[in-house]
Amino acid sequence: MIKDYESEKTLRKAYDVCIVGAGPAGITLALRLAEAGWSVVLLEAGGHEYTPRSQAFYKCTSTGLELYAEETRLRYLGGTSNHWAGRCRPFTASDFSVAPPVDLPGWPITYAEVERYLPAAMDIVDLPQGADFRAMNTGLGGGDFDADCFLLSPPTRFAQKYAAALKDTAGLEVFINCNCVDLEFDQASGQLKAVVVSDYDHHRDRVTAKQYILATGAIENARQLLNSTSLVTAGVVKKDGLTGRCLMEHLNIDMGTFILKDGQGIEPRQYYTTDAFVADYRAGKGNVSATVLSDVQTYGRTAEVKHFLENLACDMGWASKIDFVAKFSCPGDGVISTMIEQFPNAQSRISLIDEKDELGVAKVNVNWALTATDRHTIKCIGAELAKQFAESGLGFVKLNDYVYDSELPLKMSPHAHHMGTTRMAASAEFGVVDVDCKVFGTDNLFVAGSSIFATGGASNPTMPLLQFALRLADHLDTKLKAASGARV
Ligand SMILES: Cc1cc2nc3c(=O)[nH]c(=O)nc-3n(C[C@H](O)[C@H](O)[C@H](O)COP(=O)(O)OP(=O)(O)OC[C@H]3O[C@@H](n4cnc5c(N)ncnc54)[C@H](O)[C@@H]3O)c2cc1C
Repeated sequence: MIKDYESEKTLRKAYDVCIVGAGPAGITLALRLAEAGWSVVLLEAGGHEYTPRSQAFYKCTSTGLELYAEETRLRYLGGTSNHWAGRCRPFTASDFSVAPPVDLPGWPITYAEVERYLPAAMDIVDLPQGADFRAMNTGLGGGDFDADCFLLSPPTRFAQKYAAALKDTAGLEVFINCNCVDLEFDQASGQLKAVVVSDYDHHRDRVTAKQYILATGAIENARQLLNSTSLVTAGVVKKDGLTGRCLMEHLNIDMGTFILKDGQGIEPRQYYTTDAFVADYRAGKGNVSATVLSDVQTYGRTAEVKHFLENLACDMGWASKIDFVAKFSCPGDGVISTMIEQFPNAQSRISLIDEKDELGVAKVNVNWALTATDRHTIKCIGAELAKQFAESGLGFVKLNDYVYDSELPLKMSPHAHHMGTTRMAASAEFGVVDVDCKVFGTDNLFVAGSSIFATGGASNPTMPLLQFALRLADHLDTKLKAASGARV
């Protein structure tokens, strides 16, 4: 059942599970848990379609690198899956087994914990069962890079694909235009007692359940925790604690340009750092895309051809014929972009500011920041790529100055992959959620989505976050069964 909370204030007294946020994480959890027989309420702030009014709640200030935090999220049913691109690359065992070279630990669990959910996660985003995450091109012939392996989802739009399921699944109630504005925590019992919701006319209700899940995306998950006075008063969320910290992105660096040698194909090439590279350089992982440009360039071999033809045209009066010929795409010149791992660092963070949104929830400031360790990763990837292009006879790479001179500002953009603001750890000293995605210091408050990532690797986040959501659904199913006395 999908109800509009603006017009239907028919929330029940209590549910087994209350989920906040109907993006890929929230929808996956809601359907799994309702199918398992639990009564589930899914609270979504936006409506069926994009509205400027709802989207305005994502406005924030920025004091760090530009994250485009408002433009890279969508605040309505289906969440950011309404414009994701569908690139899927699961984590690998080394993402979990290799500790990052910083003063924070990596994952407190092994990859086996989430690997078993890969087939189901693939099904959710319409990837064929059993399909391999295949290399789309040949590698650089050994060395520090392999061909990158990924698959493309159609891309699945969660609100459309799961519309009938959200409407018809027994035990599931979905409320749209229903904004979470507070979390009520009871310190004595360690229990979250209610999620406070509001419509856009400031009508409020308390939604109560046995178990609660925040699935509002990495920035909002931290924002909701920081905004809850009762969680802060109880010391569950500490003012200078880790909530909101370790915000990570994947780094899209404009690395430079390349020229292919004669005889090399013009297909796009995507490479991925090997585990040996990561170990040898104590650097992060990275995808590198080398794309041949189809337009005539102002540099390199195609530019020379163009100038030659222009001169010939003028000299011989063949202007129109040569103009036609000059527009052909000469293979060989291209640009290099990346998707590089950022390591967790506590200074990269979101924090509350004094200004409030129209429903009284404090807005956030985003301070997206890199460290010298990240610049080291960028430099190593750039240098090794250039070396390997030359050594393998593929061609020549010209790196931009800032790749190897860490004092220069980077030309870079984010990938819209927000991660790490409620990181998973073995203890509260190093994280916000435990190995079951439960907020430390609470008994029944869980977090879903890429905010729980301890490290982000260089894999697109949606496939892994779906695997974690499926794992959390199993955990809660077991927990609820145990509490109800049912056989587990
Ligand atoms: C242009 C673009 C391209 C991308 N391409 C890829 C890609 O190719 N591969 C990939 O893996 N990832 C990609 N991503 C990232 C991907 O979209 C996210 O990883 C994914 O959507 C995160 O899912 P989520 O459910 O955690 O959060 P979201 O999708 O952000 O969903 C959060 C939900 O919570 C709701 N919400 C927020 N606040 C509240 C509140 N107070 N009360 C109630 N509900 C609330 C929102 O309305 C939203 O529906 C891309 C992102 C962008 C912007």
